[in-house]
Amino acid sequence: AMLALTACGSGRDEGTSGGSGSEAKGFPANSLIGVSLPAKTSENWVLAGDLFTNGLKEAGFEANVQYAGASTTVADQQAQITSMVTKGAKVIVIGATDAAQLSTQVAAAHQAGAKVIAYDRLILNTPDVDYYVAFDNFKVGQLQGQALLDGMKAKKPNGPYNIELFSGSPDDNNSKVFFDGAMSVLQPEIDKGNVVVASGQKDIKQTAIQGWKAEGAQARMDQLLTSTYGNKELDGVLSPNDTLARAIITSVKGAGKPVPVVSGQDSEVESVKSIVAGEQYMTINKDTRTLVKQTIDMVKALQAGNAPQVNDTKTYNNGSKVVDTFLLPPVAVTKANAAEAYANDPKLAPLTK
Ligand code: BGC
Repeated sequence: AMLALTACGSGRDEGTSGGSGSEAKGFPANSLIGVSLPAKTSENWVLAGDLFTNGLKEAGFEANVQYAGASTTVADQQAQITSMVTKGAKVIVIGATDAAQLSTQVAAAHQAGAKVIAYDRLILNTPDVDYYVAFDNFKVGQLQGQALLDGMKAKKPNGPYNIELFSGSPDDNNSKVFFDGAMSVLQPEIDKGNVVVASGQKDIKQTAIQGWKAEGAQARMDQLLTSTYGNKELDGVLSPNDTLARAIITSVKGAGKPVPVVSGQDSEVESVKSIVAGEQYMTINKDTRTLVKQTIDMVKALQAGNAPQVNDTKTYNNGSKVVDTFLLPPVAVTKANAAEAYANDPKLAPLTK
């Protein structure tokens, strides 16, 4: 990293504040910062783009924020990162579309002297990622699994409970971490026979929904209802996020069945409404404002030539190295704590009144 950074000197003022040991000297305060986000598969990505554009400008940087298109996502993102490198971005923040398809682009970024921050989703199989900033993904899964158990117990004090499992897109590194977190809570109950995955589909290859697409989740739920729930009660569904949760609920209602306990994530507007109305059982609050702010703080530290703050240097091995990480705490939200959880969120607080 040192080599790449010293090699990048463009003759411009490189900043003066002293960084710690191996850190670079920083870069000009008005530098270009690239932000490459995946397709808008959930509201958090839409919000993140706006927050990055405004927050980076406010901090004095030039911001180039791009989204991958809906269909050619991987190629779009690769081209966007390459273009940011060419334009001389000093930091490139990436929410990966496909965790394993960016090694060429981030290597080029490093060669040009840019730093790479993986945002929300880790980038895999490359040494060329400097930092990772995200909500604690394993904890997200644990909270989802626990809420599912709590919600089912509240409705029906004694098991066994029939459940089905869904997981996110296989190209998103988070999907497996969410699933593993949830299964760390659910598997002991499955082993005891208290919880039954009635379809038998427990492998992540069977539960995954490509591209985090609502229609994929709805189609799979339709199939499960037909194959398994002709005359069986469905008590709960592990859904990895809100978009899929609502698709699952739509499917169940379409089949004329009672809505089971369904988990979610992201605190999307329609899901918060659904929770308040007593339909979707839970979601996760991962306040995008906090995550973007944490990321911009990292950029500011790098600009000043300081080491960005991290709080986890052990967990996120990307297949090539363990990536220095800042993890934020996710919060589980049900109808019971929605008002409190969203009290300082101007968009969501009114929905809980
Ligand atoms: C994010 C989730 C989101 C999903 C789909 C994941 O990587 O962490 O918050 O629901 O992508 O957009």
